[in-house]
Amino acid sequence: MMGVEPRGMSETFVVVGGDAAGMAAASKAKRDDPELEIVVFEKGQWVSYGACGLPYYIKGEIQSLHDLVSVTPAEFREGRDIDLRTGHEVVAIDPDERAVTAEIVDGDDDRVGETVTQPYDHLLIATGAEATVPPIAGIDREGVYTLGSMSDGKELREYVARAREDRSLQQPDRGPACQYLEECRGPVGVVGGGYIGIEMAEALAANGFEVHLFQRGDRVLKNFSEATSEAVVEHLHEQDVVVHLDAGVEELAPAETAVNEETAPVGAVVTADDRVPVEMVLVGTGVRPRTALAESAGIECGETGAIATDAYHETNVPDVYAAGDCAETTHVVSGAPVYIPLALTANRHGRAIGQTVAGTPTEGGPVAGTAAVKAFEIEASRTGILDHERAREAGFDPVSKTITANSRAGYYPEGGTVTVTLTADRDSERVLGASLVSEYGEGAVHRSHAIVGAITEGATVSALENYDLAYAPPFNTTWDPILVAAKVLAGQLRE
Ligand SMILES: Cc1cc2nc3c(=O)[nH]c(=O)nc-3n(C[C@H](O)[C@H](O)[C@H](O)COP(=O)(O)OP(=O)(O)OC[C@H]3O[C@@H](n4cnc5c(N)ncnc54)[C@H](O)[C@@H]3O)c2cc1C
Repeated sequence: MMGVEPRGMSETFVVVGGDAAGMAAASKAKRDDPELEIVVFEKGQWVSYGACGLPYYIKGEIQSLHDLVSVTPAEFREGRDIDLRTGHEVVAIDPDERAVTAEIVDGDDDRVGETVTQPYDHLLIATGAEATVPPIAGIDREGVYTLGSMSDGKELREYVARAREDRSLQQPDRGPACQYLEECRGPVGVVGGGYIGIEMAEALAANGFEVHLFQRGDRVLKNFSEATSEAVVEHLHEQDVVVHLDAGVEELAPAETAVNEETAPVGAVVTADDRVPVEMVLVGTGVRPRTALAESAGIECGETGAIATDAYHETNVPDVYAAGDCAETTHVVSGAPVYIPLALTANRHGRAIGQTVAGTPTEGGPVAGTAAVKAFEIEASRTGILDHERAREAGFDPVSKTITANSRAGYYPEGGTVTVTLTADRDSERVLGASLVSEYGEGAVHRSHAIVGAITEGATVSALENYDLAYAPPFNTTWDPILVAAKVLAGQLRE
């Protein structure tokens, strides 16, 4: 059955996808122009949720999925006057008719299966990304999970809860990993050493599982510096996580004792050199932009595979915007289109689109690819371009230096160290990127923000060296570790 919603007198802004980018745009547009009619279609039931918190929900530090929601559907509908339609999946966009078609896929009433057509004056595609599922034999077996959505998070938490209740597979206490459980079980496998893999290794180990992390290349967190990757691997080992490097997974196999091998749940992770028995596998090998809806409407993707946009986040189709994990953006150092799906970018670009649609053309700005991760008791961050090959592709002659310095005054009773890798261009001395790692709470992540400033403004290493940073013994040394790194790198560039 097809229903056509009448076009009102005021302009209509339609948003596809009700999370970070979509709801930021809807809220800002409504705030700036209360006359705008705003319709948001979200295929699921959750809106404005923080997927970033899912590993901590699975770990047990956050008690309810509802705690991850920043604004509820009721608040959007009643408080912000946004026509939010959950359980509605947009299945087609017709740019000529300036209308979208949505199918009701979920809900309490008997309208499930119906379609509605909604005209738009402005349209935002904010369909996000989905977890990639690599073509590994056995990837469909029961007991293999990904973590890309709230429902994935719910399933994994339920798995952990079942494991906690199951006393039949008790193992002896495994030391520091067993903070939350008297009994340990496992082993479990995590495939992928990116930030989600590492956060999940912590979440599972904290629940008593013996965790094996498999990484195809020779280091985890490959977008960070080698020094950061090494520090994280060393710490994972200290926390009893077994890290298998250069261990491309060839198969997720059944247990050797399985009666029916085809239908059996996962029982082992098989690499070229190893066969590790596991009872569950979390696959965290990355995400890909959800672009099928856009592409079927003639909206173009760029070389990165994500939706291409201009500085105002408008696609090749007039009045159709794209933002967040489904869209490309521009790198602040290289000026090239990049696909770096992160939460602040989605929020910032969504907000800019809301402002544009409400009448003030606004650019969301480029990104530096700044990211942070916590791994048990250490923290790490990265920003800009660190990889020398990528820097050369962008036309730079990169030089990097790594230093380790005290995080607080040496005489101060607490403290640790911060390791900083700083990369700059040899000729211009421009700061290109940085990667920092420290004990958790010793400031690697917050320190990196000063370097983000330098990168964004195109500052030289010598300028960074002279940044007037705050100093007091409980926070740093007189020369903060990032100033030390800048000083050492500047010295090398002058040689
Ligand atoms: C486990 C995990 C941890 C993360 N941790 C961090 C972190 O620490 N820091 C960080 O910066 N980022 C992190 N991220 C990434 C961050 O969550 C995303 O960058 C952000 O959510 C992107 O927002 P978005 O609105 O673009 O897309 P999404 O959050 O993916 O939302 C897209 C929405 O669109 C809906 N949708 C899709 N297609 C349709 C359709 N056809 N019709 C209707 N609705 C549709 C989907 O159901 C979804 O709700 C993490 C992500 C995950 C999964």
